[in-house]
Parts: sequence; C-alpha cells; structure tokens
Amino acid sequence: MKTAVVTGGSRGIGFGIASKLADEGWNLVVNGMRPEEGVADAMETLRSKDVQVAYARGDVGSVEGRGNILEVARELAGGSVNLLVNNAGITSPGRMDILDTIEENFDWVIATNLKGAFFLSQAVARDMVETKRKDDSFQGSLVNITSISSAVVSTNRPDYCIAKAGLSMMSQLFAARLGEYHIPVYEVRPGIIKSDMTVGVTDKYDKLIEEGLCVTKRWGIPDDVGKAVAALARGDFPYSTGQVIMVDGALTMPRL
Ligand code: NAP
Repeated sequence: MKTAVVTGGSRGIGFGIASKLADEGWNLVVNGMRPEEGVADAMETLRSKDVQVAYARGDVGSVEGRGNILEVARELAGGSVNLLVNNAGITSPGRMDILDTIEENFDWVIATNLKGAFFLSQAVARDMVETKRKDDSFQGSLVNITSISSAVVSTNRPDYCIAKAGLSMMSQLFAARLGEYHIPVYEVRPGIIKSDMTVGVTDKYDKLIEEGLCVTKRWGIPDDVGKAVAALARGDFPYSTGQVIMVDGALTMPRL
C-alpha cells in the first residue's frame, strides 16, 4: 500500500483530498495545527475506509512542525512516502489593502503557504530520490495546492497572491529537478471552494457566481479538488509533470 502526506488534511479541501485518497486505498498522514482531540471525527471517518491514518500535529511553517510531520510519515510508510500534498494554507489575515498590509501578517502567510511547502517538499524529495536510487520500482509524486490567486490579482490579499504565485514557480522548480528520477510534480489550482476559509465571503461569491463568474455555475467543493488530486496520485497523468490542473469551474477562462 502507498502512503501520502496531506498537510491541512483534517478539514476543508485537505479533508476532501484525504477522503478521495483513502477511497483509493492510500494510507495517510494527516497534518494540521489542532490537537488530536479536535480532529478525532475526521480521523475516524478516514479510518473507516480501511486504511491506516496517522495524525501529525505541527505548523508547516516551523522547523519543529515539519520535523514532526516527517517523523510520523517515515514511521507510517516504513521509509519514504509516495505522495506529498502541500495543501495547508491560510488566507490573508484581515484581508488588508496592499497599502496597509503589515509585515507580521506578510511573514505569517509566506511562512505557512510557501516556505513550509518548500522545505517540506525538499525533505520529502530527498527521501524519494534516495529510495528511487535503491529501488527503481518506487513511485513518488508531489502535488501543490495553489489558487487562482497565483495569477488573479486581489489587492486586499497581496501576501496570499504572492505566496501562491511563488508556490506555482516552486512546482515547476521541483518538477524540473526531479524529472530525472521520474518523480512528477503537479500544481492543482482551485477557484472558489466552499470551506471555512471562504465562510466570510459567502455573500460576495454567491452573488458573483449567480451573475456568471464561473462557467460551471456553482461553488467548487472540496470533493472537486480531491478527485483531481486522486487522479494525479493514481498515475493517470504520467507525461504531464510541471503542469497546472485547473479546478475553478472555468472562472479564469477568458470570455467575451
Ligand atoms: P481551511 O478550511 O481554512 O483549512 C485550512 C487547513 O490548513 C486546516 O486543516 C488547517 O489546520 C491547516 N493549516 C493552517 N495553517 C497551518 C499551519 N501553519 N500548519 C499546518 N496546517 C495548517 O482552508 P481550505 O479552504 O480548505 O484551503 C486549503 C488550501 O486550499 C489552502 O492552501 C488554500 O489557500 C487553498 N485554496 C482554497 C480555496 C478556497 O476557496 N477555499 C481556493 C483556492 C485555494 P487545522 O484544521 O488544524 O486548523
């Protein structure tokens, strides 16, 4: 059985991804910030799918947090994991205008949404390369959950947009570096998805979607993203490393 790490995997999009992977028989390391008691229901739901599930509490933006994720992951996998999904993320605190954004918030968003994913990917990639050198049949891949904010400007979320744009470049960098080991790296770029992150902007997006913001006239749901990640993880896109998979209901498709 293969093992995947899903950061921020106990709720929202991360839980949608973890659920779809569990449906396909992946053992899981679910990471998050909350104590284990707070995620008991989510873990129970995943375990009911007959896979092994371990919880790794820790801040992806910190050395200690990433160390804990790696320790739990190596133990569950008995070596290198086969898949890392960099999903954990926060929105821009307070959604402040670019002329008012403060350094503390900027650092927090970059540390969580970009730096954490970078150094976790680096550590997991090293494990994968080492394993692949010993065993050519080993299959590994990385998936980064970015956002349409990688390319679509929101002047009240500059830190978020910059972090996601950086994560898009990061996907290409790791794809280029890991190509020789046949370890594909993909970017999954969601649009507007129902989760705790978007609760505060429900009315705004209800209205915009009703007015035709997306070609597919509805909110995205975590399951939409989970299905895309599961297909990538399954190996259904073997010749597409470095590519962006859009999960945005065609919000970003240019239209006249
Ligand atoms: P969410 O419902 O707010 O969930 C965020 C998850 O990330 C939670 O599981 C949380 O852990 C975890 N997390 C936050 N900070 C963390 C940290 N420092 N270390 C480890 N885990 C941390 O958000 P979501 O909507 O599911 O978003 C998931 C990802 O999709 C994010 O990267 C987000 O930017 C991206 N995205 C979201 C949308 C959208 O419309 N919702 C659109 C495009 C992209 P706890 O549960 O322990 O708090």
